[in-house]
Amino acid sequence: MSLPTSPDQKYMRLEKLGEGTYATVYKGKSRLTGEIVALKEIHLDSEEGAPSTAIREISLMKELKHQNIVHLHDVIHTENKLMLVFEYMDRDDLKRYMEVEGRNNHGALQPAVIKNFMYQLLKGIAYCHDNRVLHRDLKPQNLLINKRGELKLGDFGLARAFGIPVNTFSNEVVTLWYRAPDVLLGSRSYSTSIDIWSAGCIMAEMYTGRPLFPGSNNEDQLLKIFRVMGTPNEHTWPGVSSFSEYKSTFPQYAPTNLSQFLTMIDQMGMDLLNRMLQYQPHLRISAKDALGHVWFNECRMWNERGQYQ
Ligand code: ADP
Ligand code: MG
Repeated sequence: MSLPTSPDQKYMRLEKLGEGTYATVYKGKSRLTGEIVALKEIHLDSEEGAPSTAIREISLMKELKHQNIVHLHDVIHTENKLMLVFEYMDRDDLKRYMEVEGRNNHGALQPAVIKNFMYQLLKGIAYCHDNRVLHRDLKPQNLLINKRGELKLGDFGLARAFGIPVNTFSNEVVTLWYRAPDVLLGSRSYSTSIDIWSAGCIMAEMYTGRPLFPGSNNEDQLLKIFRVMGTPNEHTWPGVSSFSEYKSTFPQYAPTNLSQFLTMIDQMGMDLLNRMLQYQPHLRISAKDALGHVWFNECRMWNERGQYQ
């Protein structure tokens, strides 16, 4: 049992690392062990502090232990602060990484790097889905990379605990670019497939250096998707017209071939991407099946030789 009277007694706060949807993140150092950590200070809306259901949700995240999940070491809850202590990732989030590594290539990454990152991303997602946890807010900013080239998912469970706000605490608009069409159309039956849609958008973005569907509001986000994937109808997506945000006045676009935007992608990669970007949630490939896709054959061989894990 720890006796966390104040987070400052356990951790020294060093420089600011970044800001996200819910939190300001600082580098920190354990006063006891000297270990470097990331301290995530959650901004609590109300005077009441963190809701106990949220605390319970978050505490469950401590049990998630996987090489591709940023590990949550500690949750420190005082009257006016909620501080999450995470494993420190000493490189960049994927957004910054693309800006830096892809700077000579409009932000695009090398195909071999993309495959490696996708494999790690899907391993992290598969583990969480196995444990019945959805991410709900996968985006390049929430994927962290360390100097060993490991990619890990951050922010797991926070969306569930706090909901996804429209604006961040620093009043930036929370991005919709990676949000699944079923969610945008108003579906509340969240399933694991929503994370797969996001992973598909991230994969495409790594090839081009640009977000695949950069919508500016809910409807614009849908239209950006429709323009590429075709406007869905009862034929291509049975039940689509029953969603609350569906409009019979949507402009009608024919589906285009995604590969025209992604010149560096190979045929197998394209096949996997198409399986991730399915309109109908139940047709989207699962993370586990995606890991078994032929596109990842060489990654799995590395695994067995112990070089990849
Ligand atoms: P939020 O949950 O509020 O969205 P994030 O976890 O996305 O916050 O963190 C915001 C930024 O802080 C990230 O994009 C990243 O740059 C940095 N950051 C977050 N967690 C870590 C970590 N464990 N190690 C290093 N940097 C981190
Ligand atoms: Mg975030």
